[in-house]
Amino acid sequence: MISISTTEGVAKMSEPFADHQLCQSKNIQAYFDDELDSTMHLLVERHIGECPVCNAELGALQRLQALVGLAFRGQAGLSPVMH
Ligand SMILES: [Zn+2]
Repeated sequence: MISISTTEGVAKMSEPFADHQLCQSKNIQAYFDDELDSTMHLLVERHIGECPVCNAELGALQRLQALVGLAFRGQAGLSPVMH
């Protein structure tokens, strides 16, 4: 007795961004900085999952931030053992 609702409306939705529009380092940068709106964030996130180029781009950004974070931590001098 369960009526299965069809996926109405899905077909009507047009993709707001083509893949090649997502495939830009500025999008990856904005995604990384959390500057995208939720729709764009999801689109870029999905694209990164499918695109090795953008995946590598994000990986590079994450490595860079890790390095910067380490540098800042070093500058804070929480444990000034080196003299
Ligand atoms: Zn890409």
